[in-house]
Amino acid sequence: MKFGGTSVEDAAAIDRSCGIVGERICRKPFVVVSALGGATNGLLEAGTLAARGEIAKAMTIADRLEYRHAELLPSTGEHFVRLRELLKALGAIGEFSPRTQDLIASYGEALSSLIFVDRIKRLGYNAVHIDARQCLVTDDRFGKAVPIMDVTSSRLEQAARSHLDSGQVAVMGGYIGATLGGTTTTLGRGGSDYSAAIVGAALNAEEIQIWTDVDGMMTSDPRVVNSVWKVKEISFDEASELAYFGAKVLHPLTVLPAVEKNIPVYILNSRKPKGTGTRITREARPCRNPIKSIACKRGITVVTVSSSRMLMAHGFLRALFEVFDRHHTSVDMVATSEVSVSLTLDNVSSLDVIVSDLRQLGDVEVSSSKALICLVGNNLKYTPGIARRAFGGLPDINILMVSQGASNINFSFLIDEKDANSAIQKLHADFFNEVDPEVFEPAG
Ligand code: ASP
Ligand code: MG
Repeated sequence: MKFGGTSVEDAAAIDRSCGIVGERICRKPFVVVSALGGATNGLLEAGTLAARGEIAKAMTIADRLEYRHAELLPSTGEHFVRLRELLKALGAIGEFSPRTQDLIASYGEALSSLIFVDRIKRLGYNAVHIDARQCLVTDDRFGKAVPIMDVTSSRLEQAARSHLDSGQVAVMGGYIGATLGGTTTTLGRGGSDYSAAIVGAALNAEEIQIWTDVDGMMTSDPRVVNSVWKVKEISFDEASELAYFGAKVLHPLTVLPAVEKNIPVYILNSRKPKGTGTRITREARPCRNPIKSIACKRGITVVTVSSSRMLMAHGFLRALFEVFDRHHTSVDMVATSEVSVSLTLDNVSSLDVIVSDLRQLGDVEVSSSKALICLVGNNLKYTPGIARRAFGGLPDINILMVSQGASNINFSFLIDEKDANSAIQKLHADFFNEVDPEVFEPAG
């Protein structure tokens, strides 16, 4: 069971989360917690300020963090003596290396996990603290460390199994680990989900529960569509497509270790513990609706390169993509004709140089303020009628580009951003007019 920052942001949230764990004691829960909401940002900000010589400001942040933690568990105050020393040292050195960033950031989960253990014990449960830096062993890519799974698995087994079997709740800080030599590392921002998946995979958990502050994945963005449904079940691949399109519920790659082992992952709302959430599985279950969700990415720019030199020539696409590679810009959607290529970008920080390089290849046209609409559903490539149904409902909307068939679960197209909301609303009304009750349920 993983509890994110908002599920442990204050005493009330922690108690609520402990209650959720308490109700599942018979299932032998292993708990992974994030830092208190906002603590990681605060720690890293303090480090950055200290290294810049702004020690007083760094100390003010440290004071605030100490107050917040010590109020929940007085003994955590001791750790701030060392944190302040570190901040002072950063001021003297004047740099904040990735290695030191990990050390500073690790205070968040190191402390939240101690607070959680204390809290759950006070509620009358037996609990044991598992030190992530003893168990989650990683390489030394600071800021983005990769776990060494075999060592991690056996250390977790050793540290937790007997406690779990004797009915104790195991509690570990997410996000952090250490190298074999004992140097603190982190798995990257938002890494607690990853920790939960690593623990789940290592201990062969029955399931992984990601407790957060939303009910699960929805059929569309509730800010755009007011009658969204909650998706009860979705495949890992479908969830991954949606994540790219900004469904920020969780980064699916972070739960891959679990899904690979066929351990289902649930997204659940710690503010509504009775909810059933969204279940993410390796294989999609049959669904009467062809799509599970409609996602949208706005602020898209299209670049079109036309050249008669492309006619019957080879090597043109290579030259074209090299330009994007050189400027570290990823391309999302591509459409080609014999003499032109259109591509979409969401990152335009290098657009000027990209365009000037592309001019070597042909005429270049750039157009901004587009939106990418994406229908996600299992097996879309082999479902007849999707394009007719999607476009049939949008007779007044100009479709600028289409991508179908590259992936089996994604049908997407590009329109003007100003048309996006109305397109999504119409599509949603059509595709989710009736829903398969096995897969969807009313939201809220
Ligand atoms: N506390 C870390 C962060 O804010 C890790 C996490 O919450 O998953 O990035
Ligand atoms: Mg977080």
